[in-house]
Amino acid sequence: MPESSPAAALAAIAHRIERARDASARVAPVRLLAVGKTQAADALAAVAGAGQRAFGENYVQEAAGKIEALDALGLEWHLIGHLQSNKAKQAAALFDWVQTVDRRKLVDVLDAHRPDARGPLNVLVQVNIDDETSKHGCAPSEVAGLVEAIRAAPRLRLRGLMAIPAPHAEPARRRDAFARMRRLFDTVAGVDPGIDTLSMGMSDDLELAIAEGATMVRVGSALFGARARR
Ligand SMILES: *Cc1c(COP(=O)(O)O)cnc(C)c1O
Repeated sequence: MPESSPAAALAAIAHRIERARDASARVAPVRLLAVGKTQAADALAAVAGAGQRAFGENYVQEAAGKIEALDALGLEWHLIGHLQSNKAKQAAALFDWVQTVDRRKLVDVLDAHRPDARGPLNVLVQVNIDDETSKHGCAPSEVAGLVEAIRAAPRLRLRGLMAIPAPHAEPARRRDAFARMRRLFDTVAGVDPGIDTLSMGMSDDLELAIAEGATMVRVGSALFGARARR
């Protein structure tokens, strides 16, 4: 259950993150991404008022309304949902980060349509680390090719990798997926030492993700409360 006020909920999550970092003895900072899907702009504004700057959205259309409504707050917006090619042009202009780049076509469309005035678009390669046929993300074997394409795209800036591992009930199996992501991340860092973001871990398992080196955790329900089913 989330705490009663946004400030208390944020503090509780910050505490979980710090404890996990201390336990792991990792030095990289861990950023919190507030996941606002299905939440109204007012709810996001309340969390922003408590100090949160970075927000994640799953749907381009839903995000567009909130980004416009909250424009004056100067927040940082991340797309974390699957991106259809026909929405990529709009996404390139709206978001500060796109975490779900999983195919060459998206690299090309995002690069072609990123407005110069907005500076480079930060991107993560989404990896289907558990090889689930129902999920989006590229295969681990496709990461190197996408990394190369992104590095060659002038309006994109590669920041790292993102994953949504299968929700195994067994913590050891989730942790194993996070560890495989960490190894992929280290391999990419060998090619591009500038990358700084490994986005993995959610409300239920952020401690396991941080133990394996996550530098960004994406938290929805622990911050906003349970979502109504769509
Ligand atoms: C909904 C969502 C989250 C947050 O999940 P919670 O369990 O509510 O913390 C994180 N990442 C992605 C990609 C999501 O769709």
